Amino acid sequence: MIETHRLVQLDRQHLWHPFTPMKQWRQTPPLIIESGEGPYLIDTDGRRYIDGVSSLWCNVHGHRVLQIDQAIRQQLDLIAHTTLLGLASRPSIELAARLCRITPDPLNKVFYSDAGATAVEIALKMAVGYWHHKKKPSKNRFVAFRGAYHGDTTGAMSVGYNNLFHHLFPSMIFPVIWSPAPDALRGLKADACHRSNPDLWPSEDPQRCDGKECLDELQRILQKHHQEIAAVVIEPLMQGAAGMMCQPPGFLSKVKQLTQQFETLLIADEVATGFGRTARMFACDHQSIDPDIMCLAKGLSGGYLPLAATLTTDEIEQSFTGKLTDHRTLYHGHTYTGNALACAAAIACLDLFEDTHLLEHIAQSSTMITSRLQVLRSCRHVLDIRQCGLMVGIELGNNRDQAQPLDFAKQTGAAICTAMRDKGLIVRPLGDVIVLMPIPAMPHNTLAQMLDIVTETIQTWPFE
Ligand code: PMP
Repeated sequence: MIETHRLVQLDRQHLWHPFTPMKQWRQTPPLIIESGEGPYLIDTDGRRYIDGVSSLWCNVHGHRVLQIDQAIRQQLDLIAHTTLLGLASRPSIELAARLCRITPDPLNKVFYSDAGATAVEIALKMAVGYWHHKKKPSKNRFVAFRGAYHGDTTGAMSVGYNNLFHHLFPSMIFPVIWSPAPDALRGLKADACHRSNPDLWPSEDPQRCDGKECLDELQRILQKHHQEIAAVVIEPLMQGAAGMMCQPPGFLSKVKQLTQQFETLLIADEVATGFGRTARMFACDHQSIDPDIMCLAKGLSGGYLPLAATLTTDEIEQSFTGKLTDHRTLYHGHTYTGNALACAAAIACLDLFEDTHLLEHIAQSSTMITSRLQVLRSCRHVLDIRQCGLMVGIELGNNRDQAQPLDFAKQTGAAICTAMRDKGLIVRPLGDVIVLMPIPAMPHNTLAQMLDIVTETIQTWPFE
């Protein structure tokens, strides 16, 4: 307890937490995690919590998994890190070959970095550089979807859609052409922020948009602008940070078809959806889509170490090759690109997918989630339950028929998550959407326990 108190004081004095209103953070003592075990996180006072958010959507096989721990230790006995600038390394080579085997066929080249956002930055540069080398330099803009989130570096921020996050930084954001994203609940072309706080989106016009209308609009955009568009950037199947917004069946394949028809590239940001999250290895696998560029991070290293990869086709990579005097090289890189410990963890993580038949386990978990959350559908304050495999958003509101939001100032989503924490479950909301992101390898009895806590807390919540 004394030790916890000391850490709390130091945290308050010295830490600036990400995405966190710091004044409010410092008003309540933080939960300090000291260790983990399988699906559990353990705090400095020994209390155990189910990790219901996969440590921000990245843990895959659990915490302190023997095979991953051993792989990292073995690599540590050789070397922790060497650069990929001018040198190669065994784990980065082995992992690249492995990734090319499991991702859609045309993807055959791997460019490493260390976060989802950097994987997206690299994808954007690959797309613009490709068209430049193909002698079509006017194709240098992007189409992205309203509500999208691709990370917080400036390029990734530009193709993301959130005025709350970006309003201080207009000078750092390049213009993007916005295509509406499907919203099955409201049929509105709006995003999560718009719904929970309309002041943030004063200019948004609440035009109706289901999947078909979104695709029609995308087609109009591409028809009109294709000569200036390098790529369409999408979170396949589900926009995560928008509030777990699902796309209707066939949406992704139609987007792919349109990008082909109008000679633009498709960048699939699988940072959140990759590595089993949607019950297939990659979201693109559901509709057998071949993106031109795919971004991976989060689950790539099993949630152990910062590692990201941008995969692309031979054709795109080769457009960056030629005589030295042609200056085609992709001048981009990070110090820790292809870190050996992280690559070793990633290889062990992929081995475990096979050894534990994880995708089959996930399929069962996904069915279990669907059926156990069914009881919430009769709750007046549950507007919608959206699910794609292990990615779940339970949207709360006032009036289901009118999809009426809760009072933003009440921060109900956050209050409900705090109540769940007291019952031994850690989840993190997106506004008034309760997000569930169980660890893919979470045993079914732990998942059942987690879902019991969720349903019981929401069913008994004093909303009025
Ligand atoms: N893309 C998507 C779809 C994401 O969900 C996220 C993070 N939640 C990112 C990119 C950014 O990843 P990172 O936080 O590792 O930069």
